[in-house]
Amino acid sequence: MKIISVDVFKVNDGKPSILEGTEFFPVVVRINTDENISGFGELGLAYGNAQDAGFGMAVDFAKMIIGMNPLNNEEIWEKLFRKPFWGMGGGTVVFSGISGLDIALWDIRGKHYQTPVYNLLGGKTNTRLRSYASQLQFDWDEKTAALVDPKDYAKATRKALDQGYTCIKVDPVGFDLQGNWMGWNNYGMLEYDQLRVAIDRVAAMRKEGGERMDIIIELHSLTDVNTAVQLGTELEKYRIFYYEEPVHPLNSVSMREVSERIRIPIASGERIYTRWGYRPFLEDRSLNVIQPDLGNCGGITEGKKICDMANTYDAAVQIHVCGGPIATAAALQLEAVIPNFLIHEQHAVAQLAANRNTCKYDYLPKDGYFEIPDRPGIGQELTEDAMNASRKVTVS
Ligand code: MG
Repeated sequence: MKIISVDVFKVNDGKPSILEGTEFFPVVVRINTDENISGFGELGLAYGNAQDAGFGMAVDFAKMIIGMNPLNNEEIWEKLFRKPFWGMGGGTVVFSGISGLDIALWDIRGKHYQTPVYNLLGGKTNTRLRSYASQLQFDWDEKTAALVDPKDYAKATRKALDQGYTCIKVDPVGFDLQGNWMGWNNYGMLEYDQLRVAIDRVAAMRKEGGERMDIIIELHSLTDVNTAVQLGTELEKYRIFYYEEPVHPLNSVSMREVSERIRIPIASGERIYTRWGYRPFLEDRSLNVIQPDLGNCGGITEGKKICDMANTYDAAVQIHVCGGPIATAAALQLEAVIPNFLIHEQHAVAQLAANRNTCKYDYLPKDGYFEIPDRPGIGQELTEDAMNASRKVTVS
């Protein structure tokens, strides 16, 4: 089997973003073979401001794999990592390019062998995946919104609980009092109003959810060591499940300091890439939960290795998922396999019909648990309509 062409799509290009306060446009690749099998993969930068760069990276890397055997995913991974000069230096854009293509190769492998990817990775260790409602500061509804008032955080919590979730995640410092995303400076020391509203938001959620509900605190690296410790100390009494990206995502020394000064487990990973990126965080025990994004950590090939490496350090895994339905589908396949799986991230944007409708199959958690799809490959594809409505470049 040979790779004959690669299509690169920017989904919903030109339409308004569906995620409040930031860009949201999944970048997807489809690798096509001479045996009429095509595989889909998504780059891990649907949000933020790097979609066009990721799109270009996927085009550049696609040129390097034309004519290769798509079943040789290790050979292709090594080539994309070692040969383009920038590969080993990495970063979000480079590793997203490698990752999107790698996921598509696994989709081809599964379709070729007529089996879901989890069977090719070691089979099911986990049959149902506990899931949490993620990023409730964007509300939990048909549309995302900028939540400010603690009462609205309680209402969003109620909506997730009513769907059967027993765990939620929130960024209590992301929206300022005017509803501006990242409107506050959260470095240095938090002023009284900032600290007060963040605590009140979490307290309102704990009260609504009761003692049994787990709460993950997300900080998006908006805080530094001082403010993360300042806030974390106040939040300890709300029994926080874990504390995500409390400091700069690439500084294991700061992460370690926060971990030593507060009694909450520390998580990070959506901006840490490959085994080389995770190594210092595991060796110095600064992370208790790792959150690799399969769309930017190096794909399924590298994601599996990172998770296995983390297992030797007792680090649990919550795959980071904030993209289109292809990103979700890829995550479910790996989560089914790894013994250190902790919980699945169901993002507020993954709930939206405008996002779900871009793909053929509609997978959602039921009563807070995901079933693992059994279709060959990753079990997800863009619809023809979505592909026709996307910006597209074909490399052949
Ligand atoms: Mg995060």
